[in-house]
Amino acid sequence: MSAKAQHYTFQYPLAAFLFVSKAIHAGKLLEIARQQAPIRLFKFMEEGIIDLQSDDYFMGEALRLAQRARSQDEVPVGAVLVLEGRIIARAYNQVEQLKDATAHAEILAITQAEAVLEDWRLTGCDLYVTKEPCPMCAGAIIHTRVRRVIFGCLSPKDGAGGSLMNLLQHPKLNHRCEVTSGVRQLECASVLQDFFRQKRSASPPPPGHLPE
Ligand SMILES: [Zn+2]
Repeated sequence: MSAKAQHYTFQYPLAAFLFVSKAIHAGKLLEIARQQAPIRLFKFMEEGIIDLQSDDYFMGEALRLAQRARSQDEVPVGAVLVLEGRIIARAYNQVEQLKDATAHAEILAITQAEAVLEDWRLTGCDLYVTKEPCPMCAGAIIHTRVRRVIFGCLSPKDGAGGSLMNLLQHPKLNHRCEVTSGVRQLECASVLQDFFRQKRSASPPPPGHLPE
C-alpha cells in the first residue's frame, strides 16, 4: 500500500475506503475496456514499438514470405491478405515449383482467401504484396473486389498499380482499389535485387556480352 493510502487508512477511514474502492473500480473499467475495445496490439522489436495492425507490420509478413520464396530459388515476392486486422492468407511466388506461370504470390493468396471465406468476393480484404502487381494479378484483384492494395517496391517493366498502367484504379472498370505504394520499399526492392545479383554472378554472361 502506498504511503498516501496508509495515511488515509489511519487518519480518514471513510476516505481510505473510497480511495481503495475507486482504485478497484478503475481497474475493472480498464479490464472491461481492454476486453471490449478494438484490439490494437503492439510488440517491442529491436527498432522500437511496432503496431501489429499497421501497414509496416503486414508488409513485414509479406517480406518473410518473399524470403521463403528466395530460399526455394523462386523470384522473391510475398503476399498476405488481411481481413479486419487478421491475416487470412499467406503466399509466395511458386512459378518454378508448380511449373505454372500464374502461380504468383497474389494469385495464390487470393485463391487461399476465397477458400477460407467460401466466397469469391474478397470485399473488405486488403492485399499486402512486396512488389507492385503485374497485369494478371491486378485483374484477379479487381475481379475479387479487394478493398486495398499495399505494395512495397515498384515494378517499372510490368507494374499494373501505376508504373506501366493503372489497372487497379482504371476509371472504366467496375471496381477500383485504394492503393498505397512504397511501404518498406527499400527492403522489398533489396530482396529482389540481391536475388537477381546472385543469379547473374552464378551464371556470368558469355564472353563479349556486355552486362546490363
Ligand atoms: Zn502477378
